[in-house]
Amino acid sequence: MAEVTVRVALPVPLRRAFDYRHPTPLAPGVRVRVPFGRRVLAGIVLASPVAAPPGIALRAIAEVIDEAPLLNAEQLGLLQFVADYYHHAIGEVVFTALPSALKRGLVLTPPKAYRLTPAGARSDAPPFPARAHRRRALWQALKDRGPLAEGDVTALARGLKPVLAALVREGLVEVCEHPRPAGAPPAAGPVLRPDQEAACAAVRAALGTFQAFLLFGVTGSGKTEVYLELIAAARARGDQALILVPEIGLTPQLMARFRARLPDGLGVLHSGLSETERARVWGQAARGELTVIVGTRSAVFAPLKRLGLIIVDEEHDGSLKQQDGLRYHARDIAIVRAQRAGVPVVLGSATPALESYRHALDGRYRLLRLPGRGPDRSLPRVTILDMGREAADGGLGPTLLAALRARLLRREQALVFLNRRGYAPVLLCPECRWHAPCERCDARLTVHLARKTLRCHHCGHERPLPATCPRCGHGRLLRVGEGTQRLEETLARALPEARIARIDRDTVTSRLAFEDLLTRMRARDIDILVGTQMLAKGHDFADLTLVGVVNADQGLFGSDFRADEQLFAQIMQVAGRAGRAAKAGEVIIQTHHPHHPLWSPLVALDYEAFAEVALKDRYETGFPPYAHCALLRAEALKPELPLRFLETARALGQGSEAVTLGSVLPATLARRAGYYRAQLLVTSAHRPLLQAWLTTWVERIAQLPAGRQVRWSLDVDPHSLF
Ligand code: ADP
Ligand code: ZN
Ligand code: ZN
Repeated sequence: MAEVTVRVALPVPLRRAFDYRHPTPLAPGVRVRVPFGRRVLAGIVLASPVAAPPGIALRAIAEVIDEAPLLNAEQLGLLQFVADYYHHAIGEVVFTALPSALKRGLVLTPPKAYRLTPAGARSDAPPFPARAHRRRALWQALKDRGPLAEGDVTALARGLKPVLAALVREGLVEVCEHPRPAGAPPAAGPVLRPDQEAACAAVRAALGTFQAFLLFGVTGSGKTEVYLELIAAARARGDQALILVPEIGLTPQLMARFRARLPDGLGVLHSGLSETERARVWGQAARGELTVIVGTRSAVFAPLKRLGLIIVDEEHDGSLKQQDGLRYHARDIAIVRAQRAGVPVVLGSATPALESYRHALDGRYRLLRLPGRGPDRSLPRVTILDMGREAADGGLGPTLLAALRARLLRREQALVFLNRRGYAPVLLCPECRWHAPCERCDARLTVHLARKTLRCHHCGHERPLPATCPRCGHGRLLRVGEGTQRLEETLARALPEARIARIDRDTVTSRLAFEDLLTRMRARDIDILVGTQMLAKGHDFADLTLVGVVNADQGLFGSDFRADEQLFAQIMQVAGRAGRAAKAGEVIIQTHHPHHPLWSPLVALDYEAFAEVALKDRYETGFPPYAHCALLRAEALKPELPLRFLETARALGQGSEAVTLGSVLPATLARRAGYYRAQLLVTSAHRPLLQAWLTTWVERIAQLPAGRQVRWSLDVDPHSLF
């Protein structure tokens, strides 16, 4: 019997695919179970038949899971691109893209639906026995409402399944394709302003072809309305739209707006879903039952039958870049996907990534501006407060405090932003200068008072708060600096009449808790919301008129090349919360460095002024977008191992004109969770040259014996060098 060779991707870190034999060719994208070592793994067919490797006895595929391919050619092509670009094993890429339930071999069956057969629909009422109430009622429901999905039938009443089966047996009802949900009619949106209309017209004209757009407008300038209009336009052509948002952007408020405007065919993909829910949405998207998928980072891999438009909201947001395993950037993949599929992609932001902004200046992306907020809303006034002149108590100066008090009197709301959770970042002994270090990291432990613990924000290590200095026994340890918990306490002391709530990863442990806080804020049960950047995004509170930024300085002198950009974006975003509605807003920023060059574009809320300076800086220092980077990281329990591995890797890479190799350096946080970490930066002015060079280099690194003593990874286009 002639057998064919089938090439299969498996979820193993080896940088290759594996060949098996099977009696017949299998379609690419079909899942199979195959023996691998002593295990049996689910894998995905990449190609068949392929030429059999000579002289090797192949093992046989144990089971074919899918009848029809789970991934189509568009997706498989995209995943192969991702594997090549990030120099990652194809199997790991394929299985990063798939929901876990599908990785384990779960079979997606379309939910069944039921309708009346021609015989069942013909008569007024079939001659049911008098006591067959339920059979009659179900028949009536199907007659009145048309086809019903299985879930809709079971939702009508308990125990209807046997009744349904009886109707099928009698030939009155039959199984049919899943019916489109008959949703409510879409709510009408506002009439677009001319600038919004112009942006929409530009993208509409590009539907059906590839073109990248940068939709640039401050928070509240109406970007989301543009998205909604474009989604409607894509759907009118029978196409599907994919919208990527940062994790925190999936707020109930935004989702409610999407649901009201796109009542049917909307699917949501985010990390809070159960694995089966995620797999179900996947299946529906792949079958074309959903026309709009809104999701976080990994939704960029969602299967779509007829992709027509991609939107990346908050395209500058760091959460779009995966920081472990396959370190992909969802925005960059979105652009490649749009290009391969021949559809437009819209990147939206008030503070674009400098890479995207430069493409827009160069004309590679088309720049669409929304110049301002509508007539009923204005931009907030921004003030920089010199903390050298303010007598601060617990991080809070008298000016900000007075502004908060004024809001309380006017019954308006305020946000106080501090990007550091916990009570205090340092526990210090005034006697011997001991300051609680993490034993596993080169970092200090943060004081958390709620559970009376010291906690490491890098490795999660936690231990009881000591009452005395463990080194000299001194009895009065100082809690130095401010975290959100202490700020909340200080505010409560200074403004006892205020209703204060805190929003950070310690108070918000679930989506439900998050939604509850937002609801209370909207219901005016909260006067002052204190928190980390969690409070910055996507919430519209009509009575919010003041935003205080308590300690922005920790970001001013960050060691990372993106530190400025991130701080600017963060503060712009928080500032965007003020004055959303008719009332004028105010932003007060406390700093010990009032003359830092970052402040003047912030006071003017002028991203372009910031970008001009920042781009010049990047040019002079040789960082993106003027150079392309890849970072080889390594870590091990012994400090010399990562250094030795990276030096060997560096030696292997010497002698090329295409790239510049940096020095082997310990990471900024040189020890984390007990592992010693080091890195090697590779830069090049030309992306294709860097890519070609990396391909050979990584092949050779993968062979290095020193590589087996460390954990190493390659980060192409690293988000940070931290
Ligand atoms: P962004 O996404 O840029 O933050 P949104 O699209 O959320 O801005 O718009 C901010 C607010 O202004 C929303 O409440 C939105 O409904 C409203 N809005 C946007 N465009 C218009 C318009 N053309 N007419 C009236 N209201 C609008
Ligand atoms: Zn001491
Ligand atoms: Zn630690």
